[in-house]
Amino acid sequence: MAAAPDGSNPSPLDELVRVVEPPLRYFATARPKRLAPNALPTERILGLVDRAAEAGGNAEVLAGLRTLFRDFPLEPEDVRHRAALQGLAELARLRSGEPGTAPAVEPPPVYESTRPEDVDAALALLASPVQFLKGVGPRRAEQMARLGIETVEHVLYHLPFRYEDRRSLSTIAELVPGAEATVVAEIVAVGTAVAGRNRRRILEARASDGSGVLTLTWFHQTSWFQQKLKIGLRVVLHGKVETGYGRKQMIHPEVEVLEGEDDELGGILPVYEKPTEMTVGAMRKVVATALAEVGGRVPSVLGAPVAARHRIVDLAAAFRAVHEPPRGADVVPLAEARSVGHRSIVFDELFYLELGMMLRKHSIAEEAGIAFRSSGELRGRLRRALPFELTGAQDRVLGEIAHDMAAPHPMNRLVQGDVGSGKTVVALMAALDAIECGYQAALMAPTEILAEQHHATVARFLAPLGIEPALLTGSLRPAARKPVLDGLARGRVPLVVGTHAIIQESVRFHRLGLGIVDEQHRFGVMQRKKLRGLGDNPDILLMTATPIPRTLAMTLYGDLDLSFLDELPPGRQPIDTRVVREKERERVYERIGAELDRGRQAYLVFPLIEDSEATDLRSAKAMARDLATGTFRGRRLALLHGQMKAEEKEAVMRRFQAGDHQILVATTVIEVGIDVPNATVMMIDHAEQFGLAQLHQLRGRVGRGAERSHCILVSTGRAGLQGFERLRLLERESRGSRIAEADLETRGPGELLGLRQSGLPDFRAANLVRDVRILEDARHEAEAQLRADPGLGASPALRRVLEHRWRGRLGLAQVG
Ligand code: ADP
Ligand code: MG
Repeated sequence: MAAAPDGSNPSPLDELVRVVEPPLRYFATARPKRLAPNALPTERILGLVDRAAEAGGNAEVLAGLRTLFRDFPLEPEDVRHRAALQGLAELARLRSGEPGTAPAVEPPPVYESTRPEDVDAALALLASPVQFLKGVGPRRAEQMARLGIETVEHVLYHLPFRYEDRRSLSTIAELVPGAEATVVAEIVAVGTAVAGRNRRRILEARASDGSGVLTLTWFHQTSWFQQKLKIGLRVVLHGKVETGYGRKQMIHPEVEVLEGEDDELGGILPVYEKPTEMTVGAMRKVVATALAEVGGRVPSVLGAPVAARHRIVDLAAAFRAVHEPPRGADVVPLAEARSVGHRSIVFDELFYLELGMMLRKHSIAEEAGIAFRSSGELRGRLRRALPFELTGAQDRVLGEIAHDMAAPHPMNRLVQGDVGSGKTVVALMAALDAIECGYQAALMAPTEILAEQHHATVARFLAPLGIEPALLTGSLRPAARKPVLDGLARGRVPLVVGTHAIIQESVRFHRLGLGIVDEQHRFGVMQRKKLRGLGDNPDILLMTATPIPRTLAMTLYGDLDLSFLDELPPGRQPIDTRVVREKERERVYERIGAELDRGRQAYLVFPLIEDSEATDLRSAKAMARDLATGTFRGRRLALLHGQMKAEEKEAVMRRFQAGDHQILVATTVIEVGIDVPNATVMMIDHAEQFGLAQLHQLRGRVGRGAERSHCILVSTGRAGLQGFERLRLLERESRGSRIAEADLETRGPGELLGLRQSGLPDFRAANLVRDVRILEDARHEAEAQLRADPGLGASPALRRVLEHRWRGRLGLAQVG
């Protein structure tokens, strides 16, 4: 702690003022649109607030400050501005010892709980098919099903992706190029033209509102819009205003036809994602019907105390507020999905997610499992034979695993560790503990190549111990396969390394004690469950290199125990990473050529498989063609992408691994499953299209040998300066967890890697990146709930809703 000028320790109050005053001044004057990561060290501030309260600071003022700082990073710009001004005033009061005026707090929201006896009927109603709603017939139901909307509940959870504030429409004359706007106008002309090099048919229409004319242009779905846009039609148009040949235009605007006299002008209107065949208005009507008929009965059973703590309203009120915002509503929080209604729906959804995962974890933790009583002898022998010392993190994680394995319940642990952090050795030592106790162990990897690599590594490590691992993959010939299957069934094979082949029908273990899954995110829940079924409640160890911030991992994998291998072995060379602009592309190619001349190999990664009309991003297929006949003519170049068959992919990777190919042009399929020490350079094109965590995982494919390796990120500038700076974090940071945290903080587009495959129920309303705070709150409440009522025996309504939300998944997804 910094000492005060007079040499004494500053009081907690002084410390608080010292830390928070400068940033508050900044936010009270400047109004930054985006909050820089770590603009306010929130956790630290909250700690200081608590200490100041303990030290006897004005409790009321401090409680107000606590709320203010907690929500601050999540608030929109104008709220932050006001909050900063208020915060400064509060600080001044705090310092002067005056009694505080508590920040103006709105009255607590109302949470109307559903009566327990009404829950079942309401849930049944929610589960009814959309056709239950007036105005929805079989055809419409089918169209909506394509968007995943099949039940009435799905309709209610189909939240607007945007709101249109028709309280402030623009006239065409007022439109400013570059800005998004909404105008009401009349169609005055419609016609087609042929344009561009490839003679594409385009549709052009003109709309006028008396103040000016706006050109509307479509490149796709031209016939559909041509049919729909009749001269004289009044429409609401929304889109980005552009200028072309001096005309104002919108390309692919959203169009809504105004039908009656009572046009929905003047309010805040929800805009929904919809099937192409449906109009915006029709979609809106379906939602309105669902809201009117069922919305009021959606069960809300979290209880008033929980609701008050988190300032949420019941779901009936929340859905109403979100789908039919009142005229006077504040449109900014609605648009950012942070309104009370949004928060309430999200909180509720995440609460049941957490509750379900915790129950699952508890139920596994209570099952009987194997209590391994290993003396650690085998593991010790391996350790002495290793040419290196274990890192501190490896030691710690091994301790955590050993503790689980010794317990008489099944282990269910996920080890998260960066590429190269040494997960394999850790897994192997765990396997030795099981083997020493007379059990078998299995290590499963997502691809044949990876399985073979693991097998070779493991065989090398175990040779001094006289233990021989077996290999089991799909491509094994029957003659080679039979002895492995026999050995496993009779218990002669103590350790098997392989692919999905391990969990195929014909495989029997004599006594499987430990199942290990590498790159766990590549496996589905069912596959892990099968592995578990191969023994009598064996221990399960999952491994992943997918970087996920710790806080998120704890919540997301609430049903697993987590270990972090957060230390790389000493002496590792970080991958030399550089972000460059498009204009340096040729220099990058030269650089890659130079590496190839030295006998090295290269990866070139592109965001798309093939060129698409929808974007001008470069694609792997097109670039492979261009480069093979151009810049890299005469080099041995191969193509790898996700649409290739598994065998084709394996074959290409094998040849690359053998050095037959010098250059691998690929999409992100190379994320896992390949280890080629001679590959020392990677170029990732359109790097701005990827998440930082994903880029980090991709670059882990190089730097696997003794040579210094390079990763070059080419940014095509469409993400602007900010996007470029975001990428540069990778030049400085090599820790995956840190990179994932930054990804989360800047709330970049797209999901964090691996979330989609994590076997969780799909989220209808929540966005784990945006709603991470709510997620933590929901987790704490779910914990409290289970502490008070472990089996939910005293909360039948909660239990019913929980079952409804997870619909059978609880029992099914016992592992991971
Ligand atoms: P991961 O699976 O976590 O990406 P690996 O298990 O493949 O990493 O380990 C990467 C490399 O580091 C391997 O060559 C392994 O033998 C080596 N290694 C593992 N632990 C250590 C250590 N403590 N010190 C030095 N090298 C290590
Ligand atoms: Mg590995």
